[in-house]
Amino acid sequence: MDGDSPGRGRTAGGRERRTTYAPATDSRFQVPLRGVAVDSETRCTHWNSELDVVALRFGCCGTFSPCHACHVETADHDPEPWPRTRFDDPAVLCGVCGTTLSARTYLAGDSEGRSPSGSRAKPDDDTCQACGAAFNPGCRRHRDRYFES
Ligand SMILES: [Zn+2]
Ligand SMILES: [Zn+2]
Ligand SMILES: [Zn+2]
Repeated sequence: MDGDSPGRGRTAGGRERRTTYAPATDSRFQVPLRGVAVDSETRCTHWNSELDVVALRFGCCGTFSPCHACHVETADHDPEPWPRTRFDDPAVLCGVCGTTLSARTYLAGDSEGRSPSGSRAKPDDDTCQACGAAFNPGCRRHRDRYFES
């Protein structure tokens, strides 16, 4: 029928749920990301509150997922935490604005946090430093799953 439709135009709502299996990645995000029933702000079928707008990167494949269970269900290997040697690389995605944070920034206040020059880090706030979106503070309780200690 129509040969060359660009496939865009349905933005109403913006909460489309998408499940992506390896090796594909979710094209809505600028980073490689997969998960189960992921919405446009990286909530998933497992973590679905207003605050669950963070995706975390895994050391095994370098892909972001909204949560540990999402990685288990969509990849063909076991998840491994983000390695300590790469704590300055982007490892946390804000699903609201698309900014990535390093593990060191995300975990600031907890390990010896060098604050990057010129930025006012507020280590006690679980918020995105770029857009102010609130992050689920519970994520840090499962930190050992996501970040090598
Ligand atoms: Zn992996
Ligand atoms: Zn999930
Ligand atoms: Zn943000």
